[in-house]
Amino acid sequence: MTTIDVDNPATGAIVGSVPVLGASELQTLVARARAAQPGWAALAFEERARIMLRAQRWMLDNAERVLATVISETGKTYEDAQLTDLGYAVTALGFWAANARRYLADERVRPGINPAVLGRRMVVRHVPHGVVGVIGPWNFPIVNGFGDCVPALMAGNAVILKPSEVTPLSSLLMAEMLTECGLPADLFSVATGDGGTGAALVEQVDCVMFTGSTRTGRVVARAAAERLIPCYLELGGNDPMIVCADADIERAANAAAYWSMNNAGQVCISVERAYVESPVYEEFVRRVTERVAALRQGPPDGPGSVDLGAVIFPPQLEIVDAQVRDAVARGARVLTGGHARQDGGRFYEPTVLVDVDHTMEIMREETFGPVLPIMRVESLEQGVALANDSPYGLQASVWTRDLARGEQTARRLQAGAVCVNDAQVNYSALNLPMGGWKSSGIGTRHGAGGIRKYCRTQSLLVTRFGLRRELFMFPYTRGRTRLLRRLYELLYGRGRRL
Ligand code: NDP
Repeated sequence: MTTIDVDNPATGAIVGSVPVLGASELQTLVARARAAQPGWAALAFEERARIMLRAQRWMLDNAERVLATVISETGKTYEDAQLTDLGYAVTALGFWAANARRYLADERVRPGINPAVLGRRMVVRHVPHGVVGVIGPWNFPIVNGFGDCVPALMAGNAVILKPSEVTPLSSLLMAEMLTECGLPADLFSVATGDGGTGAALVEQVDCVMFTGSTRTGRVVARAAAERLIPCYLELGGNDPMIVCADADIERAANAAAYWSMNNAGQVCISVERAYVESPVYEEFVRRVTERVAALRQGPPDGPGSVDLGAVIFPPQLEIVDAQVRDAVARGARVLTGGHARQDGGRFYEPTVLVDVDHTMEIMREETFGPVLPIMRVESLEQGVALANDSPYGLQASVWTRDLARGEQTARRLQAGAVCVNDAQVNYSALNLPMGGWKSSGIGTRHGAGGIRKYCRTQSLLVTRFGLRRELFMFPYTRGRTRLLRRLYELLYGRGRRL
C-alpha cells in the first residue's frame, strides 16, 4: 500500500508515515461502521456521554502526549496547540456529553387551531444518519476534524474521519483514545490518505461534514449532490476587522496583532484585513507594528519558547509570499516582516502591510498566513462597504466603545459570525452557531444546528381518536363543503394566526 510521510514543518524532520486508503479499504471501514451503528444509536445519551467524559479525562491526563503529537506535525507553538487543539477538544467532549440529549430529545409540537390536525399528537424526532464522513484540514488537526466527530457520535452515528494528509497523526491518537475509553469497535475510524481518499469517502457515507478550502468544498458538494446526501461545508474566509475612531486603541491593537498572528495566521477566522477610521489610523498602525515586530518565531521548544510557529502546508508558503509580492507591486508598504524563511523549517515572517486597497489579492483572497494588511477608511460607512466587498462571509469584528453602534454595525456585516470588541473567541462558545455565508460555507457547527445536522428529521402524527368521517373526507357533499368554509371563516376570518 502507498504511504505518506508526515514531516514537522518547523524542523523538516520526518515524524511518521501513514497508509493511503483507497475505495476498497473504505468500503470495509464503512461496512463495519454500518454494522456497529444501530447498537450505538440504541444506547441512552448518558451511556454515550460516559465515553465522551472518559475521553475528556484521558485528554487531560495525556495532555503532553496530545500536544507533542499536534506540534510534531504542525510546527505550531505549544500555546496555540494548548488553547485550540487541546482546549477545544476537552471543552467539546464535555459540552456535547452534557447537551446532546437536550438538543436531540423528541419535541412535542402543538397543532393549534388547525381543523385538519386538531386533537392529533405531533412529535419531531432526530434520527442519526448512520455513517458520517468527516473531512478535515491541516491547520487545527483536532479542532476541525475530531471536534466535528464528537457531536456526530453523540447523535448516535458511526464516524469515519479523513484527516489532511499533512496532519493525520493527531486523528490517529484520537482513535486510540476513544478505544481506550471504551468506544465499541468500528464506530470511529480514521481513513488516512490523500484527496482521493476523501473523494472515495464521500461516495460511501450517509452525510458529509467537510472543513477545508472553498475550491475543494465545491468538489465535495458536487459529489454529495450527485448522491443526494447532506453535506455541510466550513470553508475559507477573509475576515475583516473594523476599528472605529472611538475604539479602545490599546485593546484593538493588541487584539489585531494576536488574532491575525495566532497559529501563524492559519486560522479560518483570523483577522485577515483591518479597516481603521482615519483619526486613529496612525496610532493603531504604530501599536500593531510594534507588537508584531516583537514576536518571536521559530521551532517551538516547549511553553513560552516562541510566539509564532511554522507554515504547516508546503504550498502555503508560496501562496502567502505571492500575495505579499502582489500587494507590494501594486503600491503596498511592508512595515515589518515580508519574507519567507526556510532555515530548516517553513516560516513566514509576521508581516504588517499598509497602503493597501481592494485591487490587491491580499485584500480579496484568503491569505492563511501571518500577514495583516491595514487600510485607512474615512468613515464607518466606507469600512462596512469594504468589509462586505468580498466573496467570503465567515467572520468579522467591529471595535468601538459605543456598543449600540457596534451591534448595529455588526448586523450590517455579511458574515456568519460577528464579534464586537473581540475576535475568534466566539468559536469557543459551543452553544453559539458558527458557519459561513457566501463562499465560506453551508450549514453551521455548534449549538442545536451543530448536532441536529447529523440527524434526519422524522415527524410523527398520532391520531388517538377522530371522527370516522371528517368534514374533508369522502364523500364530498355541498353541505359539508360549506360547513368547512364556514369553519375557516370562524377560525381565521378575523386574521387569527395559527
Ligand atoms: P483542502 O480543501 O485542500 O483540504 C481539506 C480536506 O479535503 C483535506 O483532508 C484534503 O485531503 C481533502 N480533500 C482534498 N480533495 C478532496 C476531494 N476531492 N474530495 C474530498 N476530500 C478532499 O483544505 P486545506 O487542508 O488546505 O485547509 C485549509 C482551508 O481550510 C482554508 O481555506 C481554511 O480557511 C479552511 N478552514 C475552514 C474552517 C472553517 O471552519 N470554516 C476551519 C479551518 C480551516 P488532503 O489534505 O489529503 O489532500
